[in-house]
Amino acid sequence: MAKELPLTPIPQAQEQLMAAFSIVEKEHAPLAGSAGRVLAESIYSGIDLPVFDNSSMDGFALRAEDVVKADHQSAVVLDVVADIPAGAAPQVTLKFGQAARIMTGATLPHGADAVVRVEDTDFGVRDPGSDVPEQVQVFVPVPAGENVRPRGQDVLQGELVLNPNRRLRPQDVGVLAMLGMQQVPVFRQPRVGLMSPGDELLPLDALLEDGKIYESNSYVLEALVTQVGGEVVRLGIVPDTMADVRDSLQKAVALGVDVFLSTGGVSVGAYDFVRAVLARDGELTLWRVNMRPGKPLAFGSFEGVPYFGLPGNPVSAYVGFQVFVRPALRKMAGLPNEERLLRKVTLAEDIESDGRESYLRVYASQEKEGWIARLTGHQGSGNLRSLVNANALLIIPAGVTSVPAGSQLEAWFFEGIAV
Ligand code: AMP
Ligand code: MG
Repeated sequence: MAKELPLTPIPQAQEQLMAAFSIVEKEHAPLAGSAGRVLAESIYSGIDLPVFDNSSMDGFALRAEDVVKADHQSAVVLDVVADIPAGAAPQVTLKFGQAARIMTGATLPHGADAVVRVEDTDFGVRDPGSDVPEQVQVFVPVPAGENVRPRGQDVLQGELVLNPNRRLRPQDVGVLAMLGMQQVPVFRQPRVGLMSPGDELLPLDALLEDGKIYESNSYVLEALVTQVGGEVVRLGIVPDTMADVRDSLQKAVALGVDVFLSTGGVSVGAYDFVRAVLARDGELTLWRVNMRPGKPLAFGSFEGVPYFGLPGNPVSAYVGFQVFVRPALRKMAGLPNEERLLRKVTLAEDIESDGRESYLRVYASQEKEGWIARLTGHQGSGNLRSLVNANALLIIPAGVTSVPAGSQLEAWFFEGIAV
């Protein structure tokens, strides 16, 4: 009987699962809205940034050698031969004793090698729209290069600007805009078909009835899938029959999902049909792992689409996602393996376990003695509240059944879980 099969150790299950996933294909996305998408190609710059030598200040462009002797007692007087606002393409070439009024971001004229700030001249702060003076008194020397942003200072044409397989951050999108890229090569977002089988499950707009509960797992999983860069296709609540489960999966295959994710129906109950559908109409390659919570996890495929059957209890579903689904989705999405944010924590209390690799809900705080972890409450796999109150999952290794207060163990912090 299947029930007697040994539980698969977590590392072995992870390895087996990961092998079933490959990266999705590339597409081009409009730059606007591309933050969070995974870059699919190296980005080399087609231009220099800055694009041209320009002023970093409002002031006067000049030749540094003309103002070497300037100070507040004996100002150097220069003839102002041009007025260069941002956006203009100046035609002048500054000669001995000449300057040009210039604004921040405006092109440095030929012959100029520095800019004196308006505050260091007799022109001071002027109202917008003020006329350009014929002459300007310069009160300070400015070395060559002062207040000038030279062409190519930030990025040279041909340089590698962004590596692929990273999620685009706001500033990354900014540099792509500076390069004039309207489209960006990204990986398609993996489409995750999310199914919630269970005759007890109600949609949130229904009134609670005897024996029924609100369907909640899909909300947790949708948020988790989205964090990893996937796209959710909601298959909804499905009655606990073989035919309904199969029909729902078949419809989703027609919609083109890359992976199935369901919660519940994978245990040993009389109405647990998910595993049976996989075994009969698809493939069931893994069932039951040596973990707590989350033992009855099932994995396989349906019509060639990989299938994660997470346990139905809300905490089991969450932990199962983080341990197994998350790395697989990241791989599909084109992201590299993620390091868990692990910290050694000291237990504030004795903890019992049953020998499975366990993920316990704790709140860990940094105290004088280091990081101290306390259980956040009921550790039953249906008690979501203790997960809400936790900031980390304490990992009890396989084979360990009791850990006394004061022992040190690793905790997996949620900040590392959030992307
Ligand atoms: P099962 O494995 O189907 O027996 O489900 C185990 C437990 O998880 C039961 O208490 C279910 O009511 C609960 N459960 C299953 N699916 C969901 C869901 N989508 N949302 C909330 N609870 C669920
Ligand atoms: Mg069920």
